[in-house]
Amino acid sequence: MIRMSAVDKYFGSLHVLRDIELEVPRGQVVVVLGPSGSGKSTLCRAINRLEPIDSGSIEIDGKPLPAEGRELAQLRADVGMVFQQFNLFAHKTIEENVTLGPLKVRKNTASEAREQARQLLDRVGIADQSAKYPAQLSGGQQQRAAIARALAMKPKVMLFDEPTSALDPEMVNEVLDVMTGLAAEGMTMLVVTHEMGFARKAAHRVLFMSDGEVAEDSTPQEFFSAPRTDRAKDFLGKIL
Ligand code: ATP
Ligand code: MG
Repeated sequence: MIRMSAVDKYFGSLHVLRDIELEVPRGQVVVVLGPSGSGKSTLCRAINRLEPIDSGSIEIDGKPLPAEGRELAQLRADVGMVFQQFNLFAHKTIEENVTLGPLKVRKNTASEAREQARQLLDRVGIADQSAKYPAQLSGGQQQRAAIARALAMKPKVMLFDEPTSALDPEMVNEVLDVMTGLAAEGMTMLVVTHEMGFARKAAHRVLFMSDGEVAEDSTPQEFFSAPRTDRAKDFLGKIL
């Protein structure tokens, strides 16, 4: 579903993605770990072309990433992304946030889009919040709305970049529960997170990034019980 081959990315002289080779099959849940600055966000952003890469190739569902125009809008619809900051449209209601993409990009009718929004907001547990504006919701509710908004596009892949890092602790689980549910339903997911419980429970695979490289690529069991590199041992020593 996601295929990256020989991907390199620089910010000026800083080499932030180094020769990344990554294949994520349909339905796989991949958790990306690694120290700050190791390139996790850049990896996510490269996959939906928020960051152009300098060399190599990225394919989604067998098709190379388009550079611009209608194809790029289609790609962004196929690859849902949820960020640390919730990025909802502040001046639109929760329902409008969820219906906007389907109306504009998927060309759904208003009643189809509304009905789908109702179902998705129900699924993430905030059906009763649909007429409110983002600022009237808690952080956990906003993040669940952001997930509903991404799902409304019927994405093939979901990317999550530290979706719970900006939340108060008591709200973390309500968001992780939605993500665990998505994983159980077979969504293809790439998740940058420091929530090791989620990694152990939901991930099929753990990537450990260090200095722009995928330094380890293993199962959660292997990674947490027997990390192979000193860099991963050091990282786990600090967070566990
Ligand atoms: P964190 O855990 O702190 O979110 P990360 O692993 O997500 O870190 P990235 O955000 O991918 O790391 O950044 C990788 C490197 O690229 C860092 O050294 C960062 O300072 C640098 N970087 C990121 N975005 C830019 C940018 N737009 N311009 C210049 N340098 C950048
Ligand atoms: Mg980051």
